[in-house]
Amino acid sequence: MGSIQALRGTRDILPAEVGYWQLVEDTARQILSRALYQEIRSPLLEQTDLFVRGIGEGTDVVGKEMYSFSDRSGRQLTLRPEGTAGVVRAYVEHGLDKIGGIQRLWYQGPMFRYERPQAGRQRQFHQIGLELLGSGSPRADVEVIALASDILRALGLKDLSLQLNSIGNRDDRQKYRTALLDYLLPLEQELDSDSKYRLRRNPLRILDSKDPKTQEIARNAPSILDYLSKESLAHFEQVQYLLTELGITYQINPSLVRGLDYYTHTAFEIQSADLGAQSTVCGGGRYDGLVGELGGNDTQAIGWAIGVERLVLLLKELRPLPGLEPDFYIVSKGEKAEAQALKIAQILRSNNLKVELDLSSSAFGKQLKRADRSGAPIALILGDEEAQNQTVKLKWLKSAQETTIPSDQLIADPTSYLELR
Ligand code: ATP
Ligand code: MG
Repeated sequence: MGSIQALRGTRDILPAEVGYWQLVEDTARQILSRALYQEIRSPLLEQTDLFVRGIGEGTDVVGKEMYSFSDRSGRQLTLRPEGTAGVVRAYVEHGLDKIGGIQRLWYQGPMFRYERPQAGRQRQFHQIGLELLGSGSPRADVEVIALASDILRALGLKDLSLQLNSIGNRDDRQKYRTALLDYLLPLEQELDSDSKYRLRRNPLRILDSKDPKTQEIARNAPSILDYLSKESLAHFEQVQYLLTELGITYQINPSLVRGLDYYTHTAFEIQSADLGAQSTVCGGGRYDGLVGELGGNDTQAIGWAIGVERLVLLLKELRPLPGLEPDFYIVSKGEKAEAQALKIAQILRSNNLKVELDLSSSAFGKQLKRADRSGAPIALILGDEEAQNQTVKLKWLKSAQETTIPSDQLIADPTSYLELR
């Protein structure tokens, strides 16, 4: 029988790679907790309706990318394609919109979209995201952008560019939509087929089409920035002023519109020049309409999501993972010695040391070869004699120097032996 393989668009993250993931997660957790963001974990499965209402029917995600199915009792369910809708559902469901004040939340985990898999684009992929709910201040926008930039910088990424736009409020967008349609309708026949489909559903999305001909048409389209109300413009200008104050450089990109309907005002992406077609590592924006849309009190909010796969691709180019060498490699042979070795391993590990135990019972020479390959500075050797005398032989693997000491002496101060000899 043939072997079973992972589904197309899903990947195993093997031990050789997982260190990058842990680095990304640890860095994000550390930086976000210093800004008092708290982690929230919401289910991977939600009612399909949550995403239809929260993301919008005219979007690619809802229109063609969702993993939706009916369960055994006929409920329509969807594997979450993004994190915001679930977080906002939880926020409303638990009345967090009613207690007032600001909620700073972050999440991480797998998302599911039925897309054509390629480098940096998967069907099960992972995001780290944050949501700041309860503030409409431009300072909130800049706080979250700065946090994304801090995380990427702490990981050592360079050549990143922040693309910034404002899509105004609902009214601004309504006016702009009309102007955009006036411009696009006469050109309908020249648009790619996806864009034709979007024309009457979500014409703003046409602006970030990847089709060259459509891109050309989009370049000459009216700019959303000319349709912003006075208040929207003031918000956008304040965001730019504060970014400049923080020394965060940005480029204004009027065709950056994001795929999701609930966005208002600030929209941004952080892109890397080193990622080819899948260049966006972080996308986000303000979504003042969403909490109300999902049945909560009107709440202003902003958030972003980082694509972890793309970040890991960049990190792999940038640097190797730190090694996983043990501090001690324990070699033992004989019943008593092997039991003793197990015990010493436990004690050393409880002292916060990394200890690898050879379980082979093979000849000492073979075990010591493996000790060499492990990269440990010291091998601890236990045979019948050591077991008998309650001693342990230390061998510094670089110099081949050896000494035998009472086990108690090693256990009393193991780190003092780690210095090179
Ligand atoms: P794209 O234009 O690349 O499809 P998007 O606008 O659909 O991105 P968002 O919904 O804003 O993406 O998600 C935020 C981030 O999540 C993206 O910038 C990207 O880094 C990552 N991401 C989105 N879809 C995928 C995917 N299928 N595989 C891997 N990462 C993804
Ligand atoms: Mg997409």
